[in-house]
Amino acid sequence: MQKHQAILDWIGGRREEMLRELIEWVNINTGTGNVAGIDRFLERVVDYAGDLGGVFGYVETLPVKKVDGKGNIVEFSLGKGLWMGRRAQAPRRVLLCIHSDTVYPADGPFQKAEMIGDGKLRGPGVADAKGGLMVMLTALHAFERSPLAETIGWEVLINPDEEIGSPAYAKALEDAAKRNHVGLLFEPALSDGGLAGRRKGSGNFSIIVRGKSAHTGRDFAAGRNAVLAAAELTVALHQLNETIPGAIVNVGAIEGGGPANMVPDLAVCRVNARTSEVEDEAKILRGIEEAVGRIKKRAGIGAEIVGGFSSAPKNPTPAGWALLDAVVQCGRELGIEMSCRDVGGACDGNRLAAAGLPNVDTLGVRGGGMHSSGEFMEIDSLVERARLTCLLLLKLAGGELPWPEIRNQKPE
Ligand SMILES: [Zn+2]
Repeated sequence: MQKHQAILDWIGGRREEMLRELIEWVNINTGTGNVAGIDRFLERVVDYAGDLGGVFGYVETLPVKKVDGKGNIVEFSLGKGLWMGRRAQAPRRVLLCIHSDTVYPADGPFQKAEMIGDGKLRGPGVADAKGGLMVMLTALHAFERSPLAETIGWEVLINPDEEIGSPAYAKALEDAAKRNHVGLLFEPALSDGGLAGRRKGSGNFSIIVRGKSAHTGRDFAAGRNAVLAAAELTVALHQLNETIPGAIVNVGAIEGGGPANMVPDLAVCRVNARTSEVEDEAKILRGIEEAVGRIKKRAGIGAEIVGGFSSAPKNPTPAGWALLDAVVQCGRELGIEMSCRDVGGACDGNRLAAAGLPNVDTLGVRGGGMHSSGEFMEIDSLVERARLTCLLLLKLAGGELPWPEIRNQKPE
């Protein structure tokens, strides 16, 4: 590590500037779908990343579809992505990714960063994942100060839709995965500072159930109750948890209905499913289709399934595990002890792995309270984690760590 000390020290000297800029980033709302906020945020990120060199450009995608509470399929825009790259023709290439969006809407109460003592900064998206973005850019800035940087190429992709499963940027992420050999993702570290190993896959479904409305008093028998059918469907879907080992199927909401004196003609079931093995996807899909098929057999009830699996389970290949080991080893040299743990949540690391790219996806800051108004970051982890990624890049570039052999590997 000694030979890299000057560069790692340079990162230490950036602490206050990183913190100052991060607070500005957190104060710009980038809730998923806040296109204007994401635009403004990316402009600021481009300014900050300016002297990284290389080329950059915005990535635009088509709107995506969702089912609204009235059972209509509506289109909505998610905003721009940002791409940066340098030495794209180098024989060895690293992809660095993180998302710009947060779970906090523009009209919500949680909008500003705030120092809360104890070395912690609280704020919307401070850990998930704007702190990670700061770690990533700082590590790259530091890495570019070394002559070793000349030996590898890198590209950065910042997408605005991760919090809803990256529906608009799935293809951009997959294409980038195929152009590179190592993937580094800056989702927050696990609560103890550790790294995610395996991750479950995830899918979201909206099931639109239609019946026939009728007045309860005058014409009850002529009605076809969509809420009742949705309730029966809910029970049937929940039973899939018992019949498909290792799978999780959760009905999170039933929307629909109206005045109690009317038979409701519409209900929408919102379902999230998780998988441990990619084979579970077909089993769950079949289970959903069969359950929906049963309620459709009833006279006057219609149902339609919208949605699908957005992330396959992430079960690292030997190269993926080797990369995790390499990060743990770099951490040890920096005095950081990290372990790998399996987690239930999916992220873009699942998608990159499914496209064949070995990746470590928890290189962002340490923190907690994610997806709540208590979200915070440990300020020290900005420098700590930027050093970690920078050391990893330096060692990969200098041949101190083996370059991952990634072709034709099966998950372990
Ligand atoms: Zn995230």
